[in-house]
Amino acid sequence: MQKYEKLEKIGEGTYGTVFKAKNRETLEIVALKRVRLDDEDEGVPSSALREICLLKELKHKNIVRLYDVLHSDKKLTLVFEHCDQDLKKYFDSLNGDIDPDVVKSFMFQLLRGLAFCHGHNVLHRDLKPQNLLINKPTMMQHKIVNGELKLADFGLARAFGIPVKCYSAEVVTLWYRPPDVLFGAKLYNTSIDMWSAGCIFAELANSGRPLFPGSDVEDQLKRIFKLLGTPTEDTWPGHNQLPDYKPFPVYHPTASIAQVVPKLGGKGRDLLQRLLNCNPNHRLSSEEAMAHSYFNDLPPAIRNL
Ligand code: ADP
Ligand code: MG
Repeated sequence: MQKYEKLEKIGEGTYGTVFKAKNRETLEIVALKRVRLDDEDEGVPSSALREICLLKELKHKNIVRLYDVLHSDKKLTLVFEHCDQDLKKYFDSLNGDIDPDVVKSFMFQLLRGLAFCHGHNVLHRDLKPQNLLINKPTMMQHKIVNGELKLADFGLARAFGIPVKCYSAEVVTLWYRPPDVLFGAKLYNTSIDMWSAGCIFAELANSGRPLFPGSDVEDQLKRIFKLLGTPTEDTWPGHNQLPDYKPFPVYHPTASIAQVVPKLGGKGRDLLQRLLNCNPNHRLSSEEAMAHSYFNDLPPAIRNL
């Protein structure tokens, strides 16, 4: 720890407190995350340590790099690459709309980061704007310059379990959870992240207005079914066998997707619709989503960012 000079606190999340810090030797700026454990006296479970160390190998430009894992004194500190801010703070700082090209760029980078992780059998399971870090985009002569997006908080759910309460006692948000998980599905696979990616896509397109801001599980499901229609045995076989299933009124999709994301064109709406499929088996994968025609006109500079 002497290696780093702690600067200001930059965040507080589900698992602990994050500080900006400077490497005293290299002067490199990093983010230090002190992970809080439920039972501090027991120390860090070896299973969690194994998981975390695997994450050090997950190197990709759309994933926040984990440089180091410091484990001493029963405490665990993770050393990450530092980014400008998280996507939630970016939304809150906006005055006006996000440029449609930035929406496309961020969405592509989100999918590319996901494709890499899913390809390495790592799920996120808690994707939300607070867990996406960005380096701010700037517009120069109508072109986006910079504006990287990176997935943060990856793999922690597997190491420490999906949290119910945040470290700061805030309730974990349900807004990005798919209906199968809300109905108690336990067999998590990559489709959970694809639903969250859909919700974040809509939120990007609406410059930070969340798509399904539910207040509890029932309200969350109701909001989803009101937009997409209540699932049936035809559209989603077996959903009524899920552990926490309860019947909902039969809503027919009234408000079309076009009404909830008015600034997204036809191709973008088609992509959104294919991500937001209640039946997890029918949701697009990250690779499929990246190949969608919505991204046909993505500038090469961003494809290679
Ligand atoms: P938690 O697991 O506790 O949710 P996060 O990794 O999501 O922790 O970090 C909490 C907050 O701290 C983030 O939402 C973000 O605002 C800030 N933060 C985390 N890591 C970084 C980083 N590498 N660079 C900049 N800010 C960060
Ligand atoms: Mg977080």
